[in-house]
Amino acid sequence: MTPRVRIAPSPTGNLHIGTARTAIFNWLFARHHWGQFILRIEDTDLERSRPEYTENIKSGLTWLGLNWDEGPFLQTQRFDLYCQGIQTLLDKGFAYRCYCTPEELEKMREEQKANNQAPRYDNRHRHLTEAECQKFESEGKKPVIRFIIDDNREIVWNDLIRNKVTWRGKDLGGDMAITRIPQLEGESFGQPLYNLAVVVDDLDMKITHVIRGEDHIANTAKQILLYEALGKTVPDFAHTPLILNQEGGKLSKRDGASSIDDFRKMGFLPDALANYIMLLGWTPPDSTKEIFTLSEAAKEFSLERVNKAGAKFDWGKLDWINSQYLHQIPASELVELAFPYWKEAGYEVNLESDRPWLEQLAALIVPSLTRLTDVIKESRLLFGNTLSYSNEALEQLRKEGVKDIIQAVVDNLANYPQLSEDNVKEIIRQVTVDFKIKKGLIMRSLRAGLMGELHGPDLIKSWFLLHQKGWDIIRLKESLSQI
Ligand code: GLU
Repeated sequence: MTPRVRIAPSPTGNLHIGTARTAIFNWLFARHHWGQFILRIEDTDLERSRPEYTENIKSGLTWLGLNWDEGPFLQTQRFDLYCQGIQTLLDKGFAYRCYCTPEELEKMREEQKANNQAPRYDNRHRHLTEAECQKFESEGKKPVIRFIIDDNREIVWNDLIRNKVTWRGKDLGGDMAITRIPQLEGESFGQPLYNLAVVVDDLDMKITHVIRGEDHIANTAKQILLYEALGKTVPDFAHTPLILNQEGGKLSKRDGASSIDDFRKMGFLPDALANYIMLLGWTPPDSTKEIFTLSEAAKEFSLERVNKAGAKFDWGKLDWINSQYLHQIPASELVELAFPYWKEAGYEVNLESDRPWLEQLAALIVPSLTRLTDVIKESRLLFGNTLSYSNEALEQLRKEGVKDIIQAVVDNLANYPQLSEDNVKEIIRQVTVDFKIKKGLIMRSLRAGLMGELHGPDLIKSWFLLHQKGWDIIRLKESLSQI
């Protein structure tokens, strides 16, 4: 049987990088084995779940290039199935009704705390008689359903990343609530809770491998007991390491970005981000190779090569990978990606009529780009007919003889109604000869006059771009007035 895996995010926030990494590992695993990748939205927490987060998760996964084979399944639409599971556990004697009120539970916790004990439910209603239950009911108390956890059990599984994991039943917090208190009159039990819903779903969806973050390890121990109680085969488990910040803590918004949307807005390309994320914990067989598309990585992916230790987030490496992808992008495509940024920066360009010009511009700046957002900084000197001058540029312009040089260039330009890059070179050569000056002087002076700064993209190409808009003459004349 081919593997069936899933990503099961809770829509209580935008798609987080940790969830995206889990999704990528599941996707790679599924694609490597020609299996199925399923999307399940775990929206049982009605207070915190929002449809817009579900949309954000779906669009974020799609943007990264992760397509799912089944779903999205919404847990809120599957309550009947969970109720059947709960009823089975009750019928088999693996679960019972507990009438403890939230106040009683709180008191229990306080006492445990005062005695330096770990908080746990003390299983006090595990053996209620039918008459005792009736009494609570007649007092108007509503029960939660609890699943019996044997304190003496050792739960052991062979984790596909962490090898043998052992968990003691007594460390699982006592008999586990698998429902909330019923809210509606006549309901036999309240809303199903996370661990129960996950197990029922994973069974129903025939999930063979549960690959998820190591923060779920204690849940896995509980879930294995649920599988056993339901008399079903336990899937394989693989717990991925956490993504850590530079200080070794969990990566959060405070580290600069944490949701996939944040990274998109910062100018990372989806393929590059997916590439970087897959390397957070996975070491490819040839560890010197770092650039992988998702499909390339799928061919080589295995859980054996996922590390146990936490994966440190490294902005420098993400930038490097992003630049590798950006530098490969053809100018025609870069124009599409850069256009919104140019627009936002207020540059007056038209995607249709300016396309050839924009493509030349894109080709000129692409080697300098690390993030897509850099298109603004790298192209800002090439838009418009007005300039502001850096002090360095003004100094250059005011050097002796520079005014005449620029004037000569302006005069020469009049001879070329249709200027080519070669003509530009010819004008520079001519002025160099006429004034008997070094080429460096004219280049620096022209850069100051044309760009207002002494550093920037290739001067000849920049000039040629400005010329097509008629901005070179205007700028050079303006620079003369600064001298
Ligand atoms: N809904 C859980 C979460 O967002 C994931 C559950 C699972 O993968 O089993 O953390």
